[in-house]
Amino acid sequence: MSDSVKKLIELFSKFPAVGPRTAGRFVFYLMKLPKEKINELTSAIGELKNKIKFCVLCFNPFEPQDTIENLCPICKNPLRNNQLLCVVEKETDLMSIENTKKYNGLYFVLGGTVATMKKNDIDNLRIQNLLERIKAHGKFTEIIIATNPTPEGKATSVLIERKLKNLTPVIVFKITHLAQGLPVGGELEYADEETLESAFEGRK
Ligand SMILES: [Zn+2]
Repeated sequence: MSDSVKKLIELFSKFPAVGPRTAGRFVFYLMKLPKEKINELTSAIGELKNKIKFCVLCFNPFEPQDTIENLCPICKNPLRNNQLLCVVEKETDLMSIENTKKYNGLYFVLGGTVATMKKNDIDNLRIQNLLERIKAHGKFTEIIIATNPTPEGKATSVLIERKLKNLTPVIVFKITHLAQGLPVGGELEYADEETLESAFEGRK
């Protein structure tokens, strides 16, 4: 295998849910594409980095209208309930919840999960940002921990809850979790809308 093929397979293998076999298929697919299609793809990837910003409050990626814009449309929307904060692992979970149209509060994207309670794992999440967000806002009455019903999601939920309970100065809010009913080991983004909706409504 040539070095450039190896390199691309290695890069694609790092994508979520893509193993070396799928990565290999991507590369062989790309080889057969005409040059214009390759250019379209590379410029779309380039634009992603130039046009997309992460919201300074919730870390949801969005496309700002100008260079000073730093809040996503959800955080900027005065009609959202600013007493509710839903903590999700990743952007796609936020999208799944938004699609149900049953939640009108704000979000926080953690950026992953912890597999263990090791310091390195914990440092990769935006837990410190989350705590600062809650303290600075000061108005949340309920924090909904909406991590996935996977072992990592559960470990992350335990960790966040512990951190929230140790917040100083103490801020009073309710901590809730999504109701059972989501497939165990599954992920929010693969749950059908109805299941997700009822898990949300039945949170406790
Ligand atoms: Zn935001």
